[in-house]
Amino acid sequence: MERSENIIHNKGDIMMRNYLKHYINGEWIESTGNEIEEVINPATEEVIGKISLGTNEDLDKAVQAARDAFPSFSQTSKEKRIELLKEIAAEYENRKEDIVETITDELGSPKSISENVHYMMGYNHFSQAAESLKNFSFIEDRGGHTVMKDTVGVSGLITPWNFPTNQTSTKIASAFAAGSPVILKPAEVTPFAAIILTEIFDKVGVPKGAFNLVNGSGSVIGDGISSHPGIDFVSFTGSGAVGKKVMQNASERIANVALELGGKSPLVVLEDADVEEAARAAVSHIATNSGQVCSAATRVLVPSSMKKSFEEAVQKVLPEYPVGNPREDNHIGPLVSQKQWDTVQSYIKKGQEEATLLVGGTGKPEGVEKGYYAKPTVFTDVDNDMVIAQEEIFGPVTCLITYDTVEEAIEIANDTKYGLAGYVFGEDEQTLVKVASALKAGRVKINDAKADFAAPFGGYKQSGIGREWGDYGIKEYLEIKTILGYPKK
Ligand code: NDP
Repeated sequence: MERSENIIHNKGDIMMRNYLKHYINGEWIESTGNEIEEVINPATEEVIGKISLGTNEDLDKAVQAARDAFPSFSQTSKEKRIELLKEIAAEYENRKEDIVETITDELGSPKSISENVHYMMGYNHFSQAAESLKNFSFIEDRGGHTVMKDTVGVSGLITPWNFPTNQTSTKIASAFAAGSPVILKPAEVTPFAAIILTEIFDKVGVPKGAFNLVNGSGSVIGDGISSHPGIDFVSFTGSGAVGKKVMQNASERIANVALELGGKSPLVVLEDADVEEAARAAVSHIATNSGQVCSAATRVLVPSSMKKSFEEAVQKVLPEYPVGNPREDNHIGPLVSQKQWDTVQSYIKKGQEEATLLVGGTGKPEGVEKGYYAKPTVFTDVDNDMVIAQEEIFGPVTCLITYDTVEEAIEIANDTKYGLAGYVFGEDEQTLVKVASALKAGRVKINDAKADFAAPFGGYKQSGIGREWGDYGIKEYLEIKTILGYPKK
């Protein structure tokens, strides 16, 4: 096995990416372990490359490099960091084609989504961090005292597979804006987008040790990051179960954590909503990224009087989102892995026991043999206390739940352990705002409001702790220091 270089080569028609090194202290270096993991294209089930699974020794080296980088990186001027983030954004643009191709291959995301969602989100996070930094104040004169915002220290970043550039980029951009050196461990199933990011950082000259990439398993490198005494702050995105472990490990040394742990978000359709538009919005939530979106609306709350027309509208709209080969750019690609497909199937089975299947069901879509494709599935007659209404499914599955009054809709919407996002659809502004204000969720969207990368992102309740994106994201990587007696009054 060639282990001296990162190689991309074509095997027949398949682009093979063999990235067997970690990036530590500004260099691609051999792993100290021998374990290698194959990466699978979920649309074809074919191997598309390999990574090395790192060891605790690799992680120790990365932490040491980050600690060595800390004194100078944390003291770089704001102007310098803005410049760095802008250079990263510019080089990221240069790598657009690679990023789009890579995400399509490793995640199975349709090319248009790889470009317009995944690629763009990464770009927007770096650009936004530069923009947010312009007016960011690291020192505040508060009358009798001064508040200084110091870099938190070295940060450990653990990211999932569902948005390979978004979750990595938002964390890295905020950390760099705050002057915090990082160690990144991306998900094993989608590691290649992070390799491109690493190449971008290397090209633009991110200072040695300020960015370190250690590939590996959650149980070794993820666990190692959350429990490492040399890591001062851990930012994690993924499942609640792992989020709890991360928090427990970090609590041993009272290290701060930011957790983004998914949701079971409600979409409240009001009486005066356009039925077809609302149905299209509901369907698009389970179509985008095959429903593997932490903030997806997967409980659709519909007025009882609208139930029948809404069900008909869903059945009419759903065929607009065909399932198929992401390279042919159908709207719904496969799920990321066999494991995720199995999980989603078990929830669909559960739904068939608990509720009424409106459309979809278990198994692969007709005519599909290869690839982890699932049928977009909509359940109706769903009670909010059913398993399919309470647990995050992370696939193209949604639930229709009826309500009689706006107050009841709000109660159902908030009756969940999660609180990441909420959506409200309708005409009357007063009711829209009433519902939006009452939802216990970190981000609420009214109708088709546009994305805003300066707006904080994060959850209430078991959806997490902390906020990402823009200036709120930067704050996570800072410690607050009060100086009394300055300025002198
Ligand atoms: P995980 O929470 O297992 O994975 C997320 C990240 O954490 C990956 O990098 C993973 O590494 C790592 N990890 C795994 N175990 C540990 C550990 N003990 N300590 C530290 N890090 C660890 O999510 P899954 O991929 O298993 O997905 C399961 C479910 O989680 C999904 O069905 C979905 O409901 C939810 N999820 C939520 C996401 C969100 O955006 N909030 C994103 C992804 C999943 P590796 O996988 O490489 O071993």
